[in-house]
Amino acid sequence: MYERIEECPICTNTDLRNSLICKDYLVSQQSFAISICSSCGLLITNPRPSKETISQFYDSSSYLSHNSDGSLMSRLYSLAQRYTLWYKFRLVKRLAKPGSRLMDYGCGVGQFMQYMQSNKYEVTGIEPSDVGLSKARSKEMLVYQTLSEAKESAAKFDVITLWHVLEHVHDLNTTIKQLKKLLNKDGHVVIAVPNTKSWDAQHYKENWAAYDVPRHLFHFDDENIKMLLKSNRLSFVQKAPLYLDSFYISLLSETHLNNGNKILKSIINGCKSNIYGSRTSQYSSMIYIFQKK
Ligand SMILES: [Zn+2]
Repeated sequence: MYERIEECPICTNTDLRNSLICKDYLVSQQSFAISICSSCGLLITNPRPSKETISQFYDSSSYLSHNSDGSLMSRLYSLAQRYTLWYKFRLVKRLAKPGSRLMDYGCGVGQFMQYMQSNKYEVTGIEPSDVGLSKARSKEMLVYQTLSEAKESAAKFDVITLWHVLEHVHDLNTTIKQLKKLLNKDGHVVIAVPNTKSWDAQHYKENWAAYDVPRHLFHFDDENIKMLLKSNRLSFVQKAPLYLDSFYISLLSETHLNNGNKILKSIINGCKSNIYGSRTSQYSSMIYIFQKK
């Protein structure tokens, strides 16, 4: 059920060294090793569960749906979610005007799709998990389980978004190539991923919640994600921060550490991470925009 990566998928270097041991706090409570590519610095969960067996490490109840119980935390969470949806919408709107065709790859329960559809975008989603798929379909969204099903419709897309999805993908190059084929000329790919060069990553080390092993298979930084897309002939356009992830990831990391005062500490560390980000452009999570030329 486990497979070992022998070659870096970004730079093909075969010198992969042990870097960290992280624990799966969410589902299995098992430990997983992370290797670092000595050339491009990509961090790789290695060995990792195969494509066929990884679903057992997804607990859809905690991964896909956050129940709203009316508590202050759940209200803050839903406020943060609405802000993030608006922020993503505003970013996509700068790339393609309403009426454009959008694909949300790894759409989960279809929240972003629904938001974009209500803002007059023509949206198609891809979601491999059965739970996500049926929830998104219950919102009357057009969602396919695999890319090959979506390919059957002839029209291409103006923007393809991957919100915290690429780190879950087994075959990075194959997936990017497939997505690129579905993109119109001058179309954009928008990729949000956690950033291993952020303040919170450096602060929490192996307890950084965004390592999220073994669900996160790859852990990127500015350099190697640009290299990955460049080698697939997609041009880097710009990057942008996701400001709220530092608070969320700090809160999850503090929950794992269980040292008390987790809310206060996560607010302080979330702020520290964003201050560090404003100085270095290394935020907890980053959005990267690439273009097919
Ligand atoms: Zn590499």
